[in-house]
Amino acid sequence: MISLRQLIDEIQKNDPQADTTLVETAYNFANEAHAGQKRASGEDYIQHCLLTAKTLAELRLPIPIIIAGLLHDVPEDTTKTLDEIRKIFGTDIAKMVEGITKLGKIKYRGMDRYIENLRKMFVAMAQDIRVILIKFADRLHNLKTLYALPEAKQKRIALETLEIYSPIANRLGIGELQAQLEDAAFKYAYPEEFINIEQVVKKNFPLKKKTLVNMIRKIKMRLEKDNIKFLDVYGRAKHYYSYYRKYLKYNCDPKQIYDLVAVRIIVENIADCYTVMGAVHSIWRPIRGRIKDYIAQPKPNGYQSLHTAVFGDEQEIVEIQIRTKAMNEQAEYGIAAHWNYKEGNKNARELAWVQDLANWLKNINDNDKFLEGAKIDVFQNRIFVFTPQGDVIDLPDGATPVDFAYHIHTDIGDKCSGARINNEIVSLDYRIRNGDVVQIITDKNRKGPNPDWLAFVKTRTAIQHIEAYKNKSWKKFLPIFSK
Ligand code: MN
Repeated sequence: MISLRQLIDEIQKNDPQADTTLVETAYNFANEAHAGQKRASGEDYIQHCLLTAKTLAELRLPIPIIIAGLLHDVPEDTTKTLDEIRKIFGTDIAKMVEGITKLGKIKYRGMDRYIENLRKMFVAMAQDIRVILIKFADRLHNLKTLYALPEAKQKRIALETLEIYSPIANRLGIGELQAQLEDAAFKYAYPEEFINIEQVVKKNFPLKKKTLVNMIRKIKMRLEKDNIKFLDVYGRAKHYYSYYRKYLKYNCDPKQIYDLVAVRIIVENIADCYTVMGAVHSIWRPIRGRIKDYIAQPKPNGYQSLHTAVFGDEQEIVEIQIRTKAMNEQAEYGIAAHWNYKEGNKNARELAWVQDLANWLKNINDNDKFLEGAKIDVFQNRIFVFTPQGDVIDLPDGATPVDFAYHIHTDIGDKCSGARINNEIVSLDYRIRNGDVVQIITDKNRKGPNPDWLAFVKTRTAIQHIEAYKNKSWKKFLPIFSK
C-alpha cells in the first residue's frame, strides 16, 4: 500500500523545492475516475497508478511524466476522457497519456502479436521516449501483481517483458529498471530455473558477503592512506536474471561466475578511476584477462566503468567496478538521466538512433524484414568508433568503412575509395572494431558506389544508397534494352 504522501516524499527526495500541487490534482482526478475499481489482486485501482508514478519518481523524472503516470489508465478504463485531461493538465501531459493508451491496444496473438508489440514500442519511442518510460513503470507494477492472474497470462506477460521490454530498456541504458523488470518477470517466465538460481545464489552469497565487508574496509583504508579521494565504496549483488544469463553462458558452472557480488568504488573524476585501480591491484593480484576498460571503450548503450577481478583475501575471486558519479548515474538511469540535466548534445545523439530506426521501421510492412531490422538495431550489439577529429559514431557490430562513410555523409559514401583504421590502410570490407579510429579516403572523380559493396555493408543507410544508385544506373540503360 502506498499513499499520495509517499509519492510526494519520493519526488521531494530529489527536489525538496518541487511544486507538487498538480500531482495532488492528478491524484484526486485519477482517484475519482477509478473510484470503486479493483485490481485482480484485490487492491484499489489507484494503488496501481500511485506505484507506477512512484517508479517514475525513483527514476528522478520530472513532474509532468509522473503526472502522466498517475493518469495513464484513465481514458482506457474510466468514463473520464482525454479531453478532460487536456483541459486540466495541458497538451503535453495529455499527449503522453494518449501515447500509453495507444500502446496498450494489441490486437493480434502469437508471433504477430510480438511484432505488433515491437512496432508500437518503436513508434512510441520515436514520438516520445517518455511514453516508453511510463510503459515500463506500468509494466513493473503489473509484474509485481502477476500472482493474481491466471497462469497462461502470467507466462505471456513475463516472456513479453524479457523478450521485448528488457532489450529495449538495455538499449536505453536504464540498468536499474531493467534489472527490476527482469527479476519480476523471471520467476513466471522460467519458474524452475528461477528456483535453481535462487538456491545457487543463497548458497554462495553468505560467504561472499563476509569477504566483501572486509575488502571494502581495506580499500577505504588504502585510499585514505594514499590520499585518493573517493565518494563511496559499497558491495553490490548481481540481480537474479542477469546471474541466470551468465550461468547459461558458462555451462551452468557457478564457479565460473565471479561477479555474483561486486565491490563498486565511486570517485570524482576519470583520472582517479585509474589511480584507484592501481591501488586495488597493489592490495590483491588481478586476474589476467579480466581487466575491462569501458571508460575508453564504452558499451553500446553508453555504459562506462573500469572492471577488474582480483584474488581476494580468501583466494576468492571478486569483481571490482570503478567509475565516476556521472558514469554511475548513466549506468543506473541511462536515457532517463537526460531529463535531469539541461539538454546537451549527448542527448541528441542518443535519441537520433531511435528516430532513425522508427522512421525506417514505420514503412516496412513485411514482418520478416521488420524483425530483421529491429534485431540489428536493438538486439544486436553496436560498436563505438571514432572520427579522426574524435567524434563518436555508433554502428552495428560488423560494420565496415563503407557503412561509416555513409553514416558521415552520402557524398562521402558515394565517393569512398579507401580507408585507414588507426592510421593503417585497410580494405573496404574490413570489419571495424570497437574503439577504432576510422578515416575515409575519397576520390572526387568517382561517379558512385560499387554495387559489389552490397555483399558486405551492414547498415540500412549504406544499403539504401547503394541500391538506389544501382537502380538509377540500371535505368539509364533501359532505353537501350527496350529498343
Ligand atoms: Mn496500467
